[in-house]
Amino acid sequence: MSLSEELAATLSPESLVVAAGRPPRTRDEPVNPPLVLSSTYFGTGPLGDGDRGYGRYSNPTWDPFEEALGQLEGADLPGLLYASGLAAVSSALSLVPAQGVLVMPSHSYAGSVTMATELAAKGFLELRTVDIADTDAVLAALAPAGGRAASMLWLESPTNPMLGIADMRALTAAAHEAGAIVVTDNTFSTPLVQQPLSLGSDVVLHSVTKYLSGHSDVVLGALVTSDAGLRAALLHHRTIHGGIAGPFEAWLALRGLRTLALRIERSQASAQILAERLAGHPRVAAIRFPGLSSDPGHERAKAQMKGFGSILCIEVAPGRGHGGSLSGAAAADRMIRALHLWLPATSLGGVESLIERRRRHTAEPESVPDNLVRMSVGIENVEDLWADLEQALGTLDG
Ligand SMILES: *Cc1c(COP(=O)(O)O)cnc(C)c1O
Repeated sequence: MSLSEELAATLSPESLVVAAGRPPRTRDEPVNPPLVLSSTYFGTGPLGDGDRGYGRYSNPTWDPFEEALGQLEGADLPGLLYASGLAAVSSALSLVPAQGVLVMPSHSYAGSVTMATELAAKGFLELRTVDIADTDAVLAALAPAGGRAASMLWLESPTNPMLGIADMRALTAAAHEAGAIVVTDNTFSTPLVQQPLSLGSDVVLHSVTKYLSGHSDVVLGALVTSDAGLRAALLHHRTIHGGIAGPFEAWLALRGLRTLALRIERSQASAQILAERLAGHPRVAAIRFPGLSSDPGHERAKAQMKGFGSILCIEVAPGRGHGGSLSGAAAADRMIRALHLWLPATSLGGVESLIERRRRHTAEPESVPDNLVRMSVGIENVEDLWADLEQALGTLDG
């Protein structure tokens, strides 16, 4: 690749997303990396470390994205691409030793909690779920109980979908003191908003499906670490368990990454405006967004994030409805069905604004209010987004 580690270290993230992962500057060679469709590579004799070998071991189309993501997270090593965010979660959880203790936010991404719960049910590990915003509770969970201290602290901040904010520096320091490694799911923030390695995390996880690729057209995951031993273990797990990325998805993800800085800048600014307006709307019973000074996570978010992300959650107030009374959940569903510009769909981090009542997922715990609506703010005109929300909330007064 043409971008040296030395130059990468001097560039701002806005430049890195454009410049990283390019081929060498050789006359008449393409400026973009090629899409390589091959399941195997020529070779004879013993397979060594530098060999590509076989399509499950490596693919040249993965390399530029892995290099770019490593540089964006401030890592000393390239990242690792996976077939999905959950394939990356599976690989990361493989770092917990047999019967080790995993401390995880109770409001982590539901798939991550489900995977950990199932591993615990089989006796492979012990799971301690905690309110990650409650530092004392996390410290207690890290400490030996029944003789066993934690082996891994899982961090997600802001959490999905409650947008709780963890005190990342305090928790990573405490985890290391207890002998645990720290994995941070940074999907909601991206390295442009939060850099978990610099906050003490050992491994960073992404659902590349979301902001990094940014167009709701691929499913991919990634892990990043500066620890060569951990990276080797993760790479081995990926190769042997087979959760590898398709080359076309990897190519699309790098193409999407090129505009990440612009997309984040726009969607964060719009989320702030929408949150402030929604906070004063009579049909909004509660709002969660760390960018609001009234939000319990505001000060912490300010201390460890660059901006506040572009996910916000509202609780829709019960309504009179059309001729009857509507529960908060029914009002939320009615409001979502009345939208024309916002897309009623799960997922987040795309150019299009997405909206969803989270409890439509049966895996979402009951501690998530049933009228809670998660909004992923896209890059449309903010006044158009607001007008659509206003008219949809207005239908609840009928
Ligand atoms: C979507 C998501 C995942 C899972 O990623 P997939 O690409 O859907 O497998 C994990 N963590 C967070 C925070 C997510 O939003």
